[in-house]
Amino acid sequence: MAIIGGGVAGLALAAELAELDGRMVERSGGTRPERRIVLLERENQYAYHSTGRSIATLSETLGSPEQRALTRASRTILDALGAESGTPLLRTRPVVWVADEDNVGALNALLTASPALRAADSAAARTLCPALRPEITARAAVERTAQDVDVEALHQQYRDRAAAAGATLRTAIGLESGTWDDARAEWTLTTDRGELVTQRVVNAAGPWADAVAARLEVPPAGLANLRRTVAIATAEGVGPAWPLVIDVAGRYYFRPERGGLLVSPADETPSPPTDAVAAPQDISVAIERVNAATSLRLDRVRTSWAGLRTFAPDRNPIVGPDPKQAGFFWFAGLGGTGIQTTPALARLAAAQLLGEAYEIPGLDPAALLPR
Ligand SMILES: Cc1cc2nc3c(=O)[nH]c(=O)nc-3n(C[C@H](O)[C@H](O)[C@H](O)COP(=O)(O)OP(=O)(O)OC[C@H]3O[C@@H](n4cnc5c(N)ncnc54)[C@H](O)[C@@H]3O)c2cc1C
Repeated sequence: MAIIGGGVAGLALAAELAELDGRMVERSGGTRPERRIVLLERENQYAYHSTGRSIATLSETLGSPEQRALTRASRTILDALGAESGTPLLRTRPVVWVADEDNVGALNALLTASPALRAADSAAARTLCPALRPEITARAAVERTAQDVDVEALHQQYRDRAAAAGATLRTAIGLESGTWDDARAEWTLTTDRGELVTQRVVNAAGPWADAVAARLEVPPAGLANLRRTVAIATAEGVGPAWPLVIDVAGRYYFRPERGGLLVSPADETPSPPTDAVAAPQDISVAIERVNAATSLRLDRVRTSWAGLRTFAPDRNPIVGPDPKQAGFFWFAGLGGTGIQTTPALARLAAAQLLGEAYEIPGLDPAALLPR
């Protein structure tokens, strides 16, 4: 089995697959041959693209009902992984959604859809983040159980576990093309470092997932890559325990980060798959909007970056076998919730690939199948 892509999706899947395979071999008393699992990452390092650029939030109020179910299941897995390794992967940081007068309706709708949210008045929101201007918080909602994820520790754990369970992980090797042999039911993959024969390819190439499909002559899933910009501004008087504040109208979000303030204009600019770079205009918009929403006077940016969030047309992840091409499995379209949903998604995908049952409460896996 060859996994293409060494972001959080590919790494988590390599670990879950190798461990599940090991358990299945053990159960069979060693009569079942172990599978060879190889992960190929084109960059010189893992998690260089979307995974390394997220803002690392776990919130049950983000995304579709499917993504929320995946997030709840992932939280349980992340808690257990942290406890097993002795390195906690989650740290509490509430999320506060804010609405000005014009957007109270949107906030009410979010409250109705999200059991994890509690309504809050302006004073309560400003107790959590005193810099918020009163007129920005005509109505607010708080998710007290939201958390920050230690993304670096997470993908390091997945790498260690994958390697310990026998998977081979390789960097600086890119998939270029491949041909499927129907009679032998196997792929011959051509990479920039030679050929590889495998029975199954898993497409975990993030923003390049449609490009990877095209290289193997598999029809695309219609994924769209949307650029998102983040900057860290120098700021006085920011409390390290402040929440992540999100404008319900989707114009900005901010939270403390290493003594400064992480800000984003919540932009969604269509982009080809590429090494995304922050545009100065998008950084200025983020600073202006956060200054307008708070009493802070941000004017200096310490660092900035941009990353791509990859969406299927229905904005749900795509996980499952390709409906037409044998030996081709999708694990893509993780959108803006790939960190917080991957732990459960990787278990689901591993079980599907190895023919085992795996249930996630509140999720019908059919909703994620490629069409
Ligand atoms: C600014 C920003 C903020 C975000 N905030 C959050 C958040 O708070 N919470 C959350 O849950 N999610 C968040 N996300 C989303 C999350 O980061 C992504 O959903 C997730 O990282 C996607 O992981 P991935 O492994 O699918 O993609 P990637 O991390 O991009 O990995 C794909 C890999 O495939 C490799 N590849 C591509 N083509 C080839 C090839 N031909 N051969 C070999 N390798 C190849 C690439 O080099 C890349 O490393 C955010 C994203 C951004 C950009």
